[in-house]
Amino acid sequence: MNIEQTVSTAVADLALGSTFTFDDLVGAIQDHRQRTLRIVELADLGDHDGICAVWLITESEDLVLHAHSDSVLHRQQFVLHEFAHMILGHGEDDECSTEDFLLPDIPARTRRRLLTRQDLDSHTEIAAEALADHLAAAIRGSVCGESRYLEIFG
Ligand SMILES: [Zn+2]
Repeated sequence: MNIEQTVSTAVADLALGSTFTFDDLVGAIQDHRQRTLRIVELADLGDHDGICAVWLITESEDLVLHAHSDSVLHRQQFVLHEFAHMILGHGEDDECSTEDFLLPDIPARTRRRLLTRQDLDSHTEIAAEALADHLAAAIRGSVCGESRYLEIFG
């Protein structure tokens, strides 16, 4: 499957339609994975090697830790990229890093994925980034839809 097909299949599987809110998406991922999904900002994150976000798989939940950014869109993109890995099932492979300096309190056996600015050339990274872009566009679409609704009916 090429990346375009991978992305459109993943989006169709979410069954959220062409526009949705960020919260809709979180709900769909939780249902899909049957696990709680938590998003946490970690101020220290960006200080190490340009890491923007990390997906941690713990016993009971999925945690997405993301670096601080003054831009909401930027922050959303970090998080959507990790969501894309979840949706595409990338956490089930063995591509994990063990950057223990980052999060000493998290159990060592926890599997994690790191997004760094350098790792965008592998197939999984390109697919995740493409899906993240698609999700961002769908979320933007829903925001526009709402404000247009308010314009007309507000
Ligand atoms: Zn990635």
